[in-house]
Amino acid sequence: MNIVCLDMEGVLVPEIWIAFSEASGIPELRRTTRDEPDYDKLMTWRLGILKEHGLGLKEIQATIAKIDPLPGAKEFLDELRTLTQVVILSDTFEQFAKPLMAKLGWPSLFCNTLEVAPDGEITGYKMRCEKSKLTTVKALQSCGFDTIAAGDSFNDLGMIQASKAGFLFKSTEAIKAAHPELPAFEDFPDLLDAIKAAL
Ligand SMILES: [Mg+2]
Repeated sequence: MNIVCLDMEGVLVPEIWIAFSEASGIPELRRTTRDEPDYDKLMTWRLGILKEHGLGLKEIQATIAKIDPLPGAKEFLDELRTLTQVVILSDTFEQFAKPLMAKLGWPSLFCNTLEVAPDGEITGYKMRCEKSKLTTVKALQSCGFDTIAAGDSFNDLGMIQASKAGFLFKSTEAIKAAHPELPAFEDFPDLLDAIKAAL
């Protein structure tokens, strides 16, 4: 049985922290793993900024609710889900993704979890497992699934390379140049055709 594993940010929705930085008017939140490779350090710093601005989960979800999926993403996902099983594998947090999942028709999402105090303050976070995308694809394969994967970033390469078919989607020129062996697409109809051919 097939299952398609899709990255979320940059593929189906914009980068959440960058979009949230714009929606909230807090430019410091544009800082990403490209500027700070230590994810723990970056998240602790981000949570400090949210606290400084008095932003709890409710306010953040209201701001994220203003962000829309990428054009064509919902139609792509709707059609793909009539053809095969689909799971979104993301390094984001379920509470941040929730408003976007509503706009995408509630697809399955495997990601991480924020720790939230009763008053709504975000006090910490819990990562689901190490190298979650590759680990999840391998776990799915271990129980009989053939995986097909697509993503845009470095952290997607593991699941893309470990799958029976894997694609770069809306990736960077540098990643595409470094991986000429991986088919790369920019538009949803082309990705859908490639997935259909692999099913
Ligand atoms: Mg991505």
